[in-house]
Amino acid sequence: MTIKTWSTPVAPEESRPVPCALCGGEHFKPHLNCEGFAFVRCARCGLVQMNPQPLFKAIASRYQEGHGNDYLSYELANEAGFLRLQELALADAGFDEIESALKNRQTQPKVLDIGCATGALLVNLRNRLWACTGVEISPSAEYARRERNLDVRSLPLEENHFPGSSFDLVLASHLIEHLNNPALFVEEVYRILAPGGYFLVTTPNISGFQARLFKGRWRSAIFDHLYLFSVKTLSALLAEKGFAIERVRTWGGLAAGTAPAAVKYIADRAAKRFGWGDVMLIRSIKKVRLAD
Ligand SMILES: [Zn+2]
Repeated sequence: MTIKTWSTPVAPEESRPVPCALCGGEHFKPHLNCEGFAFVRCARCGLVQMNPQPLFKAIASRYQEGHGNDYLSYELANEAGFLRLQELALADAGFDEIESALKNRQTQPKVLDIGCATGALLVNLRNRLWACTGVEISPSAEYARRERNLDVRSLPLEENHFPGSSFDLVLASHLIEHLNNPALFVEEVYRILAPGGYFLVTTPNISGFQARLFKGRWRSAIFDHLYLFSVKTLSALLAEKGFAIERVRTWGGLAAGTAPAAVKYIADRAAKRFGWGDVMLIRSIKKVRLAD
């Protein structure tokens, strides 16, 4: 299944150089040349990023007035496809096992879906008796509240000031690559998760087969993505902030239509087996620090 990625044309926007979000390094090497923009690679830790980087204001405005309604139509048009992909990803991450472990605790499990869009996944989880909260900065949040009666917050994660240990499971699918400060984001997720709570992050995989093959023309090397993580750099960020990595899954060897079906079949199987898939999901768990 091919789903077009939401992307806006490159505009001359305010941007500024920032230290590496993973290691604080300030030396970068050219990495991917795209049409009209580029990604660099941190010389110290290898994290691929857009640097200098557009400011949050410029990024957020893409999802707001003017673009806003287009974005909601885009989300609704692709909703069924996105939901199917998310469900497959969750199954791969061992969601059933997580769910039964949490349901054994006798209290209703609480999930936060960050970047929940129209809330389709939260509706499914609500039907499975989860207490559901969402965060969504685009106008899709309004739709989720009005049409689905979901508790969806329109502010960026940190600005909601959720109490510590509020959730048993935090989901962030195709979100972390859009953030200016993924390190602060992971810290906040750690704070709001209960000890032993799960964090499932899904993001494009720059260590995958397609990224290596297509380079600057890789479908995830777009202007909306500020960071392009590898299994190694994302695992390092999670570990640095106190998470234990429980499972890594990647999937998608070749996009539909780029190769004969038999070649695609073999590439997809190899991608899954060797971690070369185009998208990755890392399942991690909040370790309890001695100081907590
Ligand atoms: Zn670095």
